[in-house]
Amino acid sequence: MAGNQPNTAGRHFLQIPGPTNVPDRILRAIDGATIDHRGPGFERLAHRVLDGIKPIFQTTGPVVIYPASGTGAWEAALVNTLSPGDRVLMAETGQFATLWRGLAQRLGLDVVFLPGDWRHGVRANYIAAALADDPAGQIKAVCCVHNETSTGVTSNIAAVRKAMDDCDHPALLMVDTISSLASIDYRHDEWGVDVTIGGSQKGLMLPPGLSFNAVGTKALAAAENATMIRSYWDWGPMIAANKGGAFPYTPATNLLYGLDEAVAMLQEEGLQNVFNRHARLAEATRRAVAAWGLETVARDDGEKSNSLTAVMLPDGHDADAFRATVLNRYNMSLGNGLGRLAGRAFRIGHLGDFNELMLAGTLSGVEMGLAVAGVPHHKGGVQAALEFLSSD
Ligand SMILES: *Cc1c(COP(=O)(O)O)cnc(C)c1O
Repeated sequence: MAGNQPNTAGRHFLQIPGPTNVPDRILRAIDGATIDHRGPGFERLAHRVLDGIKPIFQTTGPVVIYPASGTGAWEAALVNTLSPGDRVLMAETGQFATLWRGLAQRLGLDVVFLPGDWRHGVRANYIAAALADDPAGQIKAVCCVHNETSTGVTSNIAAVRKAMDDCDHPALLMVDTISSLASIDYRHDEWGVDVTIGGSQKGLMLPPGLSFNAVGTKALAAAENATMIRSYWDWGPMIAANKGGAFPYTPATNLLYGLDEAVAMLQEEGLQNVFNRHARLAEATRRAVAAWGLETVARDDGEKSNSLTAVMLPDGHDADAFRATVLNRYNMSLGNGLGRLAGRAFRIGHLGDFNELMLAGTLSGVEMGLAVAGVPHHKGGVQAALEFLSSD
């Protein structure tokens, strides 16, 4: 019964949409000796990573680096720029947008949540209508998730910016790019985003533990007058210390070694090539899903994410049982369905340090898992992906 034994030889396939596979180069960089964070060696490292991270966000402004998960950077964006009771407009794209809303409500903000069906991105026309309805300018911020990791839907942030500009609304624009940064084109400056939230453990290929706020000039000005209580997350002491290559409290030194290496790897490949690679691997994945006769959670072709694909299982089939089969038989972790998609969908992460043969292995594991778990599907998904990947 060898085929039923857990297979733990060889490498585990970590195909959840974050944390992603950490390249050996980055693991080796993190392995360095921890140094004095007030010494000259650290100062050089700090300047290098603080400068090097800016082009990844496509900004020339400051990027604050926190020793925290992405959730911390969500909170930081809000407490630095807003005052208690301020109204913020958020769009229900899925589980991550819902979690960010909960955080904002617990902080005492007045959240207007534009309803969504968890299969589409932010609707710029709904944003436009909500802002047109707010002539007194009570809405202080519009908050969007660029790439909704629970659904595999990418939203058009430039269209949201245009909707805000068209009615001359003064609200800040805050965008979560945690699962799109360094995977899908994201332009902080060009799209007029005021605060961008990032995290280390997805496209940046690092372990969890760092998160980011890219901060525009309008957000910096808002921080002068914002009265929400903030201490640990305060941009002021951070940006002041960063100018001298220091941090106001002990930084995550070894993760910064990893960040230094990640930035070098992204520069070597070239950001545009990184985006093209993700687009290609995502297209191959979508061809496999279509050939299996399964449905993506994302409904519109133009919104399908290049960093992950969420797949619906046919009614009556439990996505978590399917994932358990894939883990036990093929030693591969797939993402679970989150929130209202729990048990109904699974997610294939195809972001970060990932290539065509890794994708071929991943899709093979999914196709074999569908057969073993008795999920109705057509054969040939892997073949469709391979044909796409070998056609040019
Ligand atoms: C992963 C993720 C988060 C949460 O980040 P944590 O590091 O788990 O706190 C938030 N938003 C999006 C879009 C994500 O993908």
